[in-house]
Amino acid sequence: MSAIPAGGPGLPQRRHLVTEIPGPASRQLLARRESAVARGVSSILPVFVTAAGGGVLIDADGNSLIDFGSGIAVTSVGNSAPRVADRVREQAGQFTHTCFMVAPYESYVAVCEELARRTPGSHEKRSALFNSGAEAVENAVKIARHATRRQAVVAFDHAYHGRTNLTMALTAKNMPYKDKFGPFASEIYRVPMAYPLRWPGGPERCAAEAFDVIAGLIHAQVGEDNVAAVIIEPIQGEGGFVVPPAGFLPQLAEFCQAHGIVLIADEIQSGFCRTGDWFACDHEGVVPDLVTTAKGIAGGLPLAAVTGRAEIMDSVHPSGLGGTYGGNPVACAAALGAIETMAAEDLAGRARRIGEIMLPRLRKLADTYPVIADVRGRGAMLAVELTRPGTLEPDPAATQQVAKACHANGLVALTCGTFGNVLRFLPPLVIGEDLLEEGLSILEDAFAGL
Ligand SMILES: *Cc1c(COP(=O)(O)O)cnc(C)c1O
Repeated sequence: MSAIPAGGPGLPQRRHLVTEIPGPASRQLLARRESAVARGVSSILPVFVTAAGGGVLIDADGNSLIDFGSGIAVTSVGNSAPRVADRVREQAGQFTHTCFMVAPYESYVAVCEELARRTPGSHEKRSALFNSGAEAVENAVKIARHATRRQAVVAFDHAYHGRTNLTMALTAKNMPYKDKFGPFASEIYRVPMAYPLRWPGGPERCAAEAFDVIAGLIHAQVGEDNVAAVIIEPIQGEGGFVVPPAGFLPQLAEFCQAHGIVLIADEIQSGFCRTGDWFACDHEGVVPDLVTTAKGIAGGLPLAAVTGRAEIMDSVHPSGLGGTYGGNPVACAAALGAIETMAAEDLAGRARRIGEIMLPRLRKLADTYPVIADVRGRGAMLAVELTRPGTLEPDPAATQQVAKACHANGLVALTCGTFGNVLRFLPPLVIGEDLLEEGLSILEDAFAGL
């Protein structure tokens, strides 16, 4: 085998298959993995990665695959992006940890300043940093409860907020996230999602009545005065890239404000330029009280945040929030590099351009193959939903078949959805347009082979 290349944007930006997928080197590692790694932690792709950058992943056999996954919307700035990798190297050489609660450092403050600048709204903000998305969501709920002295939290059908105990309770889907992992945290109330394709009566009825139905349920079954927070992904992630109809999020924000309810926007997947704005809420000018971020924030290093109104965030007593590793200095250095990259390279604009290239081809695909019931998303957060033609009956088997055909042909394609029938596309925002077009051609071939 040839020497393993370094990652980063210098990698040849091409698809190149030299073995079947997975090849012999990956198969050998898979066998080792099986006797060492817990079965509950599984992987979508059967190949082991040795380098990555721009829009490609290189595997242990030397195959170069086109990346339409970004490690689940994480490496939006690309893998080993220069500003990220350089700052990480530099910080690791200075110090790797002090614990911000023991002795602080500037980069943590600088990340919080960037969060205040970039998140929706020009009000006074504060942030706290954590390690994972789930931990950020847990803390957002803690803060909302503390600030309001209320307990109930309203979450939506198809929501995904993480895998810790409280966030499992907020997450809607049983398999694989919740099954036999209970009992779950209490005081969580679930309401229907404004899901245009699946709303009874269809998209127009959804736009007309979803908010009223949800507000009515909150009033009748919880009581507005008992609600600490409503938590929503402005575009749902794992649940199926569900985009609520125009006007829904602004109505929800107004409702929360009128009743002293903290609106938490979970922008962990949709944030940091993914949808063509810095945050998905920006599209309709929605200003949530708290925003949770993670995934795209630090180019792959583990970092997450809760950012929100100063009076809500600062309602918590000193030492009420924290954690040993939260806002680790190497992760903060990476975040500053990633955010600088997004601003300098206008990655929100790149996301919009990706949408302009992909959407027409996905719509054409839907015109050709009636198994595609819906094409949706915004910017570089796009998906197609597969059903039995002419019905709303989910077709997870066809979805898996298309995904597997993509993998075999060197395209990393991910699935999602409560019913496992959604193919989602999350390319790195720095992907070249040739690779993007080639990836779409592989997808088209996969549908042709159904
Ligand atoms: C991924 C995700 C989470 C959980 O983040 P982890 O870092 O995996 O804990 C929470 N909310 C949304 C919307 C996500 O996409």
